[in-house]
Amino acid sequence: MDTIALDPRLRHANGFLGRTPRMLIDGKMVAAVSGKTFTVYNPATGGVIASVPEGDAADVDLAVAAARRAFEERRWGRITPSERGRILWRIADLIERDLEELAELESIDNGKPYAVARVADLPLAVDMFRYMGGWATKITGSTLPLSLPGEYLSYTVREPVGVVGQIIPWNFPLLMAAWKIAPALAAGCTIVLKAAEQTPLTALRLAEIVQEAGVPPGVVNILTGFGETAGAALAAHPDVDKVAFTGSTEVGKLIVQAAAGNLKKVSLELGGKSPAIILPDADLDIAISGAANAIFFNHGQCCCAGSRLFAHKSVYDKVVAGIADIAGKIKVGPGLDPATEMGPLVSDDQFNRVTGYIEEGRQSGAKVAVGGSRVGNLGYFVAPTVLENTTSGMKVVREEIFGPVVCTQPFGDDDLDAIAKQANDTIYGLAASVWTRNGGTAHKLASRIRSGTVWINCHNVFDASLPFGGYKQSGWGREMGEEVFHNYTEVKAVTAAL
Ligand code: NAP
Ligand code: MG
Repeated sequence: MDTIALDPRLRHANGFLGRTPRMLIDGKMVAAVSGKTFTVYNPATGGVIASVPEGDAADVDLAVAAARRAFEERRWGRITPSERGRILWRIADLIERDLEELAELESIDNGKPYAVARVADLPLAVDMFRYMGGWATKITGSTLPLSLPGEYLSYTVREPVGVVGQIIPWNFPLLMAAWKIAPALAAGCTIVLKAAEQTPLTALRLAEIVQEAGVPPGVVNILTGFGETAGAALAAHPDVDKVAFTGSTEVGKLIVQAAAGNLKKVSLELGGKSPAIILPDADLDIAISGAANAIFFNHGQCCCAGSRLFAHKSVYDKVVAGIADIAGKIKVGPGLDPATEMGPLVSDDQFNRVTGYIEEGRQSGAKVAVGGSRVGNLGYFVAPTVLENTTSGMKVVREEIFGPVVCTQPFGDDDLDAIAKQANDTIYGLAASVWTRNGGTAHKLASRIRSGTVWINCHNVFDASLPFGGYKQSGWGREMGEEVFHNYTEVKAVTAAL
């Protein structure tokens, strides 16, 4: 293996990086059965930061068997809901205790600025465990009046779906783990989670925290490994009752096929091509900085990034100039540099993918208003990029780029149905934002847009209480909020003839 070159600016993460990172199976921190490991890179430098276990089908078998035993022996189910809630709170407290360490790990592993991990990813993960901890005592059924002759008592109960396989992406590594693990634990499930190969570090650190918080052995199992091996084995495993996946629409379709063997339940949080729509009466200062944040937050590596920007023709030039101005001033650099506002893309693959799309856009006639190129010659930095006068047929408008590239388009219509039709002209339906001073217009457009989230005069606003997920090919089911319990519970109807 290449030598590990740690950044001298790291203040808290050296301890974790100094030990050999291990997976969590059945309450023990373990190496892969095969003994294999794979290398973890820092996208700011391309340098090596760690090597982690390369779990595969054999490790998935062990982890699923452990989760099954834990479920059947009711190691988690027999703990009272209130105590389960307390354990979720303890996980939140421990993440909070280790906030700096986790933010450093996230920054060097994913590339995002330390400050962003510190104020966004980490607090949201903490909130998710606390919010879901509160739900542990509140997952209930109802009593139902029957219309049959005779007397009956009928009620429903919500029971944990069982052993849950969870597969997560690299864009918000710890937060995605929290979105998956916290509600499944609140519902009483047992878990096998696979982290993304590009960003395994915080998931393995979370594995240690889960142990420290007192989650019984086998209830949470955390694996590192590749999608094609470990991920595919988990999705296809006959003893997994449900799989929850976040990632690309392409892999989402493979998950559905893999799940067919035992008809396990499936929830999917997939890609997007979310519109930001700026109406002529919008407060342009707010709309311009909001639309810039909609695409450039997390380097555009958000499934709900505002990657298609529609602005009314009367304000289009001003909007494009304003966003280009913001884009040109964003400080791009390594995540650990305190001056950095945008880090590198996560990997060389993503770098090639994003720069390839920019080139493709240029060739199909889009004008680059700002950006469009690599920054520096080390690591995977791409300048925030604004494409002008894109049209609905272009590949850059139709496909998810997953980078800091916004496709802008003017619209001439004042008819809301026509605006919504353009916004809905995509296979995706994850999110949208509408920018206007007119509340009526905003809510009318919100009702016409086919997506799981509509933001009004804001974008990328997340809260543990808000259900999140997609219409159309953006997925199945919702994460967060009360809605998430549809993913992790089965409903049982009990009827007694009295
Ligand atoms: P991806 O390939 O869909 O990966 C997401 C997760 O699925 C990873 O843990 C991955 O493992 C795993 N996986 C891959 N192939 C699998 C298979 N055949 N069976 C089971 N699991 C499998 O996404 P990506 O490669 O990281 O990024 C590609 C594109 O996905 C992005 O450009 C973007 O369009 C989309 N994406 C969406 C989101 C979102 O939040 N909706 C997040 C990230 C990416 P490995 O990482 O080990 O391959
Ligand atoms: Mg992949």
